[in-house]
Amino acid sequence: MKHIKKDSQNPTLKDFNDWIIRHTQNGDIKRWLEGVEFGTSNIQEIWKKLHKDSKSWNSLRTTLLEEQGFLCCYCGCSLNFEEVRNEKAEILVRTVTVEHLKSKEKDDHQKLIFDYENLLACDKNCNQNRGNEELTVNPLEYDSVIQIELKKETEIKAGKETIKRTKTSKSLILLDSQNIDIKKDINTLDLNRADLKIARGRLLDEIESYAVEYYEKYKEDISRIELEGKFCKRLNGKYKAFAFVSDWYITKEY
Ligand SMILES: [Zn+2]
Repeated sequence: MKHIKKDSQNPTLKDFNDWIIRHTQNGDIKRWLEGVEFGTSNIQEIWKKLHKDSKSWNSLRTTLLEEQGFLCCYCGCSLNFEEVRNEKAEILVRTVTVEHLKSKEKDDHQKLIFDYENLLACDKNCNQNRGNEELTVNPLEYDSVIQIELKKETEIKAGKETIKRTKTSKSLILLDSQNIDIKKDINTLDLNRADLKIARGRLLDEIESYAVEYYEKYKEDISRIELEGKFCKRLNGKYKAFAFVSDWYITKEY
């Protein structure tokens, strides 16, 4: 999980903000916000109104994606408007959904339905896994995010041929926490499912091979700045998928 800094002043949010002003100063949303018609079915209807207005809906999603470097607020997978698959049909980029940090289904939080500070970009898996559970971990709080620990596990796999058994080691990265509530959140969000452990491990393997190649080429260890530039920085506004792994690797190794 990567720490997210919100910027409600981002100019790309203009159409979203205009929509909020238009709909909350009069009409049914205003009446709803004043507490006339609370209820789960109503909240879905209210949310759909924003969804149906493509200009404001895209303004919100674009701003969230840019803010988060096109990564899911929980698992860190790559996000965009459309799903992207490679030739092996593996999903490289997942479709963005909008997540309410404080669930819009809960009575106390219903008024935060359009509060930008409460909205995050998230993939469908994390959004569904989270459901209406209250989470302790909060991607907007640095002190909370750093309580998630990464642990490297190595999986030894035998080669495909039975006679010539070649061993290839692949890293898997597990998430854990000393904080029992955050540990529970990791389970709620299912952040240790196989595809995520493998994807995080793949990035770690990529970083390690890059460091080895660098050493072989220049006969000296790669610097932290060099690794940061290659694996932690945004490129065209986007972080590498699971970039929190590179952040962790770089602070851990030096
Ligand atoms: Zn996710």
